[in-house]
Amino acid sequence: MRHAFVETYYQATVEKTAYPGLDGRVETRVCILGGGLAGLSTALGLAERGVSDVVLLESHSVGHGASGRNGGFVFAGYCLGNAELFKVLGREEARRLYRLTIDAVELIRQRVRQYGIQCELTDKGILLANWFNDPARLEQPRQLMKEVYGVDWQHVAPGELREMLKTERYFGALFESNAFHFHPLKYVYGVAAAVAGHGIDIHEHSAALAIEPQGGKYLVRTTHGEVLAEQVVFAAGGYARGLYRPVERATLPIATYVVATEPLGERLREAINCEAAVYDTRFAFDYYRPLADSRILWGGRISILNRGPQAIAGLLKADLVTVYPQLADVQLDYAWGGLMSYGRQQMAQIGRDDNGVWHAVGFGGHGMAPTTVAGEVLADAIAKSIPIPQGFARFGLVPTCGLLGLVAAQATYTACQVRDAYDAHRLNP
Ligand SMILES: Cc1cc2nc3c(=O)[nH]c(=O)nc-3n(C[C@H](O)[C@H](O)[C@H](O)COP(=O)(O)OP(=O)(O)OC[C@H]3O[C@@H](n4cnc5c(N)ncnc54)[C@H](O)[C@@H]3O)c2cc1C
Repeated sequence: MRHAFVETYYQATVEKTAYPGLDGRVETRVCILGGGLAGLSTALGLAERGVSDVVLLESHSVGHGASGRNGGFVFAGYCLGNAELFKVLGREEARRLYRLTIDAVELIRQRVRQYGIQCELTDKGILLANWFNDPARLEQPRQLMKEVYGVDWQHVAPGELREMLKTERYFGALFESNAFHFHPLKYVYGVAAAVAGHGIDIHEHSAALAIEPQGGKYLVRTTHGEVLAEQVVFAAGGYARGLYRPVERATLPIATYVVATEPLGERLREAINCEAAVYDTRFAFDYYRPLADSRILWGGRISILNRGPQAIAGLLKADLVTVYPQLADVQLDYAWGGLMSYGRQQMAQIGRDDNGVWHAVGFGGHGMAPTTVAGEVLADAIAKSIPIPQGFARFGLVPTCGLLGLVAAQATYTACQVRDAYDAHRLNP
């Protein structure tokens, strides 16, 4: 490993537009806190509905959080699994919420076209590869998707899969064709540019410090300024600390990690001989995809520890070599981590609390489409008074119990990983 891992692959391959810090007092209709995709999608949704009297505050730079660090998989569904969503909401409401994410996948495609966002969108689907020698692990989700959600995930036989992924690790796959992968930070910057193009003020390096009610409005303070707004949207993800307790106490910051290899040239095809992105059927699955410059972007692990890049590189290199031993000698050029925000029920939390503050948090590790859903739903609610779909109310702001919650989460993750390792030992030859 040759690099000091000072920046992410995404940061190293994008041109950044800077937005000024907030200085002084402004008044606005809507103040959005957080320049990830939840905040930016809400801002763009508002602008597209004719509401541009909006100020967006970002504590670092736009895309600093999970939205600019993730695996770049864009597919329907939420971090709460499709089977659990059905169990909790029943067919009709689960289908309705799932449908919103299908629409969001299409809306992302449309915005990429409409705003000319160059984000290496690779519309070649996503493979769910079976880690276990147990066909039911694919058959059950395939049937669920068909029967409950009306979606066809196609079966890929083991032999066919081995032509696409040159590894003995998998036992077939499901192919989700209505899915793609892209450079998420380029997409974030493109959405930010579209937002700014609609006349909305984005302020970077302007952390919101507090939200205070004031005469029927909300005063949001930053170090060098303040915003008086009729409405406030909290969209600060897993990175917010000490800003607004009712939302923050309902989510836990959970880490996951990513690396990018050196460019592999022809060797890429000796491992990944297709353009689809890939994840697997374990709880803490690997997720990876080929990049246009012949690198592999590889992600994995779920932990309460936000580890440093050297430790991440060591862990994920071992994971990569477990699946593709033929790549044992490749170098990693980039390694980084990111924080996801998870609610107690592991479902996106979109709504308005008792103080009248809107929120869009808890997207976990499956946030590209759902943050876009949040943007649409909140923009409809704020600009047009359209009620938020009923199903989201089922996943309210339930306290996660801070440190205790983190320890419990880690215990659950470890138990799931041990179960998966045991099942693989038991089932696989
Ligand atoms: C490594 C990794 C891989 C992932 N892979 C995928 C994937 O492949 N596909 C997928 O769908 N999802 C993936 N996810 C999940 C997805 O990235 C997130 O669910 C989504 O980006 C969340 O967006 P967000 O806007 O809620 O949060 P964030 O993107 O984290 O944005 C929150 C923003 O708020 C800012 N902020 C914090 N405090 C303040 C404050 N006081 N004032 C102002 N701003 C503040 C932060 O700096 C940050 O920019 C992944 C996540 C990670 C971490």
